[in-house]
Amino acid sequence: MKIDIVTIFPEFFRGPLDYGIIRRAREAGLAEIEVHDLRAFAHDRHRTVDDRPFGGGEGMVLKPEPIFECVEALGVGSREERLTQPGRQSVVLLSAQGKRFDQSVASELAEMERIVLICGRYEGVDERVGQFLADRELSIGDYVLSGGEIGAAVIVDCVTRLIPGAVGNEASTQQESFTTHEQQLTDGPNSTCASGGLLDYPHYTRPADFRGMGVPEVLASGNHEEIRRWRRRTALEKTLRNRPDLLQQPALSAEDKELLTQITGKEI
Ligand code: SAH
Repeated sequence: MKIDIVTIFPEFFRGPLDYGIIRRAREAGLAEIEVHDLRAFAHDRHRTVDDRPFGGGEGMVLKPEPIFECVEALGVGSREERLTQPGRQSVVLLSAQGKRFDQSVASELAEMERIVLICGRYEGVDERVGQFLADRELSIGDYVLSGGEIGAAVIVDCVTRLIPGAVGNEASTQQESFTTHEQQLTDGPNSTCASGGLLDYPHYTRPADFRGMGVPEVLASGNHEEIRRWRRRTALEKTLRNRPDLLQQPALSAEDKELLTQITGKEI
């Protein structure tokens, strides 16, 4: 997969993309990530990339010309091609007004050959970039950042670890928080518990007794079916406590409903 990032702060990406799984994926040639300096596509002496907003108001707006020229120089398909043949390439504008980026968008992007991430700054980006150049706008959450760079780093991180081969044990990226059953490509061993769109179950490691704080006994029982059921129950408990909105989906199994009835004392 090739990922291009368009930014006025290319130096920003020294660091976030140089560690752990992303670094290994780059070294193994699974992900090629290139950062492009938007100012290289400005034409004036001052390398101007922003201008005042039409209609007046606060702040500055990123101009369309350098962004269009930069993306066109990358050799991606036209916007029409990208929209009519979805699934191969995507040009993404990072925007607080975009659709919410989540694990299912990450797995959709991880299937692509090429993604381009355009980072806004200041008051934002001339609207024609979202209308006529990018094929989607993505937001990483309901808050306003000062630039798209952190959002781009979030997307690169989530997407890269889903590329087959990037994480040593592929099943491990499919048994995590938020992963829905449709996104799961393999059946996990039955001692583990696939997330099914819930939050992950609690994990413990040695020592078994840490300052008097123990580990649930069932995990040392060797009884795989009981461990699976305990993990499912604790995943449901945590989801109910921290993210009840995730339980609104219809994918809950009969066992999930039974466990939720046990947890809440109410029929689900
Ligand atoms: N005026 C805009 C915010 C501009 S913030 C508004 O009210 O919606 C400047 C840039 O930061 C944006 O162009 C975008 O690229 C980036 N940005 C801010 N919040 C973001 C978010 N939640 N997700 C992704 N990018 C974001």
